[in-house]
Amino acid sequence: MKSVKISVKGIVQGVGFRPFVYRLAKKHRLKGWVRNTSGRVEIELEGNQLSLQAFTKDLKATAPAAARIETVRSLSQPLRGYTSFEIKGSEAETGQYQPVSPDIATCKDCRREIFDAADRRYRYPFTNCTNCGPRFTIIEDIPYDRPKTTMRRFKMCPKCRKEYENPADRRFHAQPNACPVCGPKLELADNRGKPVACKDVIKKAAVLLGAGKILAVRGLGGFQLACDATNEKVISLLRERKHRPSKPFAVMLSGIADVKKYCEVSAAEEKLLESPEAPIVLLRWLKKGKISESVAPRNKYLGVMLPYTPLHHLLIMEAGSPLIMTSGNLSEEPIARDNDESIYRLKGIADYFVLHNRDIYARYDDSVSRVADGRPQIIRRARGYAPYPILLPYKSKQILACGAEEKNTICLTRDRHAFVSQHIGDLENEETLQHFENTIELYKKMFRIQPEIMAYDMHPEYLATKYALKMGAELKLVPVQHHHAHIVSCMTENKVKGPIIGVAFDGTGYGPDSHIWGGEFLLVDRQGFQRLGHLENVPLPGGAAAIKKPYRMALSYIYTLLGKDYPLEGLPLAKYASEYSIIKQQIDKKINTPLTSSAGRLFDAVAALSGIRLEIDYEAQAAIELEMAAPDNIPETGSYPFSITAGNVRIVKLEKLITAVIGDIKNGVTASLISVKFHKTMAEIILRMCRILRENTGINQAALSGGVFQNILLQKLTLEALWQADFKVFTHHLVPCNDGGISLGQAVAASQVKLKAMKLV
Ligand code: ZN
Ligand code: ZN
Ligand code: FE
Repeated sequence: MKSVKISVKGIVQGVGFRPFVYRLAKKHRLKGWVRNTSGRVEIELEGNQLSLQAFTKDLKATAPAAARIETVRSLSQPLRGYTSFEIKGSEAETGQYQPVSPDIATCKDCRREIFDAADRRYRYPFTNCTNCGPRFTIIEDIPYDRPKTTMRRFKMCPKCRKEYENPADRRFHAQPNACPVCGPKLELADNRGKPVACKDVIKKAAVLLGAGKILAVRGLGGFQLACDATNEKVISLLRERKHRPSKPFAVMLSGIADVKKYCEVSAAEEKLLESPEAPIVLLRWLKKGKISESVAPRNKYLGVMLPYTPLHHLLIMEAGSPLIMTSGNLSEEPIARDNDESIYRLKGIADYFVLHNRDIYARYDDSVSRVADGRPQIIRRARGYAPYPILLPYKSKQILACGAEEKNTICLTRDRHAFVSQHIGDLENEETLQHFENTIELYKKMFRIQPEIMAYDMHPEYLATKYALKMGAELKLVPVQHHHAHIVSCMTENKVKGPIIGVAFDGTGYGPDSHIWGGEFLLVDRQGFQRLGHLENVPLPGGAAAIKKPYRMALSYIYTLLGKDYPLEGLPLAKYASEYSIIKQQIDKKINTPLTSSAGRLFDAVAALSGIRLEIDYEAQAAIELEMAAPDNIPETGSYPFSITAGNVRIVKLEKLITAVIGDIKNGVTASLISVKFHKTMAEIILRMCRILRENTGINQAALSGGVFQNILLQKLTLEALWQADFKVFTHHLVPCNDGGISLGQAVAASQVKLKAMKLV
C-alpha cells in the first residue's frame, strides 16, 4: 500500500475533470479524494503500486476532451488510511490562477439529446454539459463557478440541480447547465427590436431565411448575420448593407457529407472541422453545387464551418444548408454582443433578430484556420482557442504586450503562460479601441496579472502604441520592432531558440529608420535583431492611398526603377496616365511618399501591372487575387530575374523583375502564368537570400512570418525551396502569421530585454 498526493495543472476545471478522476479512482480501486483549488486540481490516492501507476497513465491518456493537462506532479506521503474515494469542496488560494477553457463546440451526447423527441432537452438551443458549451464567453471572474458567470440569473430547476450535484452525471458541475424549464430562451424580433410572436423561433427563422431574409442571430460570442448562401439576391443585399463589396463570407454546412459536396476535404481538414474548436476552415472549393460564386468571388477557397452550438444545429436542420454566417458588424467594427446594442448597430443590415437572454461577457469571433503542410495553421485565433495560453519555454515576468494596429490581439504573460487574447480587430475606430481596453482589463483580472513591463510597436501612430505610452507611464516601456515581433512569435510557438534567419514578409511595419518595412531578412534571437537584407525601397505614393490603390504602387515601381519616361502604352495601367503625372510630382517633391520595402506592396504592384486587380475594397485583395490567378497545377515555368547587392545589408533589386513582368504582359503572356512566375520568383528571392545569410552566419534555420505568408502558394513554394537546400524551416500554426501574432512576439522579445541598457528608439 502506498499513498501519493497529485497536483494537476492546466485546463482542468469546468471540463468534467473531477468526475473523471472519481471514475478513474473507482476503476483502479483507489481510495482518497479529489478537489479543485484556485490554481490546480489536487488528488490524494491510496492503493497498491500497480494501480497507482495505471491511474497516472490513464489520467493523461484518457482525460476529458476539453481538458488540457499541462503538468502532473506526484509526491509520496505517509498512509492516511482512506476508506473511500470522494469529491471534496473547492479550496480558494489567493493569488493563484489557472487557464480558462475556451468555448467548446456541442458534443455528440448533447447533439443526440436535442434531436431526441423523448429527451427533456429536445430542441433546446442552450443544451450543454461538462464536455461542451460556453466557457470563456460567459465568465466574468475566477474561480469558474456559476455565480461568476452570466448564467447566475438563471436558477436551476430541481432536475438540472440533480444533474449538477451528481458526480456520475455528465452535467456534474457544468456551470452553464440549463433546460427548457429553467434556462435561457430565444426570442424573435423585427428590425426595430419589436418582438415577433411565434410558436417556434427556430422554425420561423428557417422560414425567413428561406424567403431570402437576413437574420442577425445571437450566437456564442456575439451576433452573426445569416442568410441563404445559394440566393444571389440576398447575398448582394448583405454585401451592400454591410459595406463589404467582395470580401469572402464563410458558410455553415450541416456536416462533413455536405461539406464534401462543395469542397475538397482531406483527413486533416475533416478532423479540424469536427474538432471541439470547430473553426472556419479554408477548403479547396470545387465550385459545383448550389453555393453562389458571390459568397467568395474570385477565390479558390471557401471558408466552411460546421454547427457548433445547439442553436446552429437546430437552425441548419430546419433551414437546410448552406447558410452564410458572418460576423454581426458593419465593416470592420467589433462583433455586436448585447441585444439592444445589436438592434441599434445592425438594424440597417438585418431584417430580423434571433435574440436570447444568456448574456455574452467576452466578444468572441469565429476562428479561421486551414491545413497547410498537413497541420492546422490558424489565421484568426478566437473562438475555441483563446484564452488558452501559448506555453513559454521559460518563466516570464508579468508583461502586457499591446499588439499591432490591424488584426489586433493583446498578450499578457505570467509564469510559463502567454495569454494571447482572442482576435480583437483593426484598431481604427472607437468601438474597437473600447473592445481592446476591455479585453486587457478582463485578462488582467482573470489571470491575476499586474504587468510590470509594457511592450508595444514602434509605430507612433498605432492606437495600441498610444495606449501603451499613455497607460504605461509607471511601467517599464519596451518598444519592439514589428518584424522582430513577427519572427519571435514564430520562434516562440515552435519552441526554437535563436539565432535564426527571419524572413518577415508583410504589408506594413514601422522601421527604426522611419521607413515602412515589410520585405525583411533579419538575424533574430530573443534579445534583438539585425537587419541583414530587404527588398528594395520604393516610394508609397500617397501613403495609405497607395495601399487601397495598387495601381499607384505599380506606377511607383515603374517610375522609380525604370525611369520617368518609361511608357505605359500597352499596359492595363495606361488608363491612369493623367494621375501618373501627379504621382510623379508627389514622388519628386516627397509629398506623403514614405519609402517602403514591403513585400505586400510588391504583390500589389504585380497584380496591378498584370491587370488582375487595380483597386481594392478589402485588405490584401490584390495579392489574394494574384495568388488565385495561378492555375491549380503549377506548370513548369521559369521565373523572373532579380539581383542582390553585396554589403552588410543586402538589397534585393527589382528592376529586372519589373521589366520582365512588363515584357510578359506586352507579349500577351496570361495573367495566370505571370502569377506563377512571380510566386516562383518570390520563393527564389527568399532562397537566395537565406543561402547568402547562411554562408555569412553559419545559421541553418529560418522562420517565415508576416501576413504575406497567408499566401498558400508562396508558402508552399518557399518551403519546398528551403527544404531542398537543407534548411530547417519554421512556420506558424498556433498563432497567426499576420499581425494577430505580433503581441506574442512583443511579449517574448520584451521579456528578454536588459532593461537597464534599453533606450527608446
Ligand atoms: Zn455536451
Ligand atoms: Zn432545468
Ligand atoms: Fe505585420
